[in-house]
Amino acid sequence: MAVDFGLAVDMEGFNVCMEEARQKARNARFNAREKSIVLDANATSQLLNQGLASTDDSPKFQHEEHSSVVLAIYTGSEFIASASGDEDFGLVLRSTSFYAEQGGQIYDTGSIEGSSGSFTVNNVQVFAGYVLHIGSFMEGYKSKALSVGDEVKCKVDYTRRSLIAPNHTCTHMLNFALRIYPDPVIVVSIGCKVEDLVADPECKVSISIELCGGTHISNSRYAVAFYIISEEGIAKGVRRITAVTGECASQAMKLALSIDTDIIDASKLDGVALEKKIGSLKSTLLDAAAIPATRKADLRKKVSELEDHIRKAKKKTSKRLSRLRWMLQKPLVLQDNPSVSLMSTWV
Ligand SMILES: [Zn+2]
Repeated sequence: MAVDFGLAVDMEGFNVCMEEARQKARNARFNAREKSIVLDANATSQLLNQGLASTDDSPKFQHEEHSSVVLAIYTGSEFIASASGDEDFGLVLRSTSFYAEQGGQIYDTGSIEGSSGSFTVNNVQVFAGYVLHIGSFMEGYKSKALSVGDEVKCKVDYTRRSLIAPNHTCTHMLNFALRIYPDPVIVVSIGCKVEDLVADPECKVSISIELCGGTHISNSRYAVAFYIISEEGIAKGVRRITAVTGECASQAMKLALSIDTDIIDASKLDGVALEKKIGSLKSTLLDAAAIPATRKADLRKKVSELEDHIRKAKKKTSKRLSRLRWMLQKPLVLQDNPSVSLMSTWV
């Protein structure tokens, strides 16, 4: 519609504003629901004064149920001896297998189960060494109560963590790769400098070393695949890279391949049918955010080649029509030579 009125659409500006709006909505949700319980300096000093040692979170690298004891229950404004009901609250345990959000890795979720109540962990944050498990009692259970001193079982959602670990590890790989980007970017190498790699393909000189307490995969093959989906400006001087791993990455490539097949099929069409197909391919490419970015660029190029084909065909038709109009304006005297048909005069 904008084109009809001779206007252009500032897509980059639109995307920046859209991302800012999304971020605001995300922050609002996060602040409203999940980060409502915070152990401030006053709260952590109360724990310290009670002689509570900071949480032992070494079991976070285990992948099994962990037994612990409730040391403190916090409502967001005060510590209480027992919790019940449907309100959110935070639990401090003697030790935990939950990973608290830190070092660029998101927190674990799961449950903490006692004999008189099961607690859903929606968020885990660490404050001055105290790991706070934030959530509420599970729906559908009759007994909803937990008290300081209760023995509990920590049950981390390891399926969710198994999706986080490759993402987190691949973020390290990407960080490392970005540091050795040549200019202009042609080759990205992880583990070897590009020039060393070219000189010696077996190069084992340069490796990525970063200190991080996060949960990692032991080999990049466990990520299955890693694709950058988008790279965009989200604020002045700030750019965001969105990437996927594992099943999401496989799905992203499958989607790209299926669009590629559609483009090949479309190239066999012509005229209005081709024009229609191009319209649908363009909207699919616009909507399909989860396609590897390099593939997306390649697919867009192919669609624009199809558009060129349409443009050329239209130009040819319009030339023919102009010629026809010109011919029709000229007085044609066919009766002197009836063997010459009008059609043969046009061609
Ligand atoms: Zn890490």
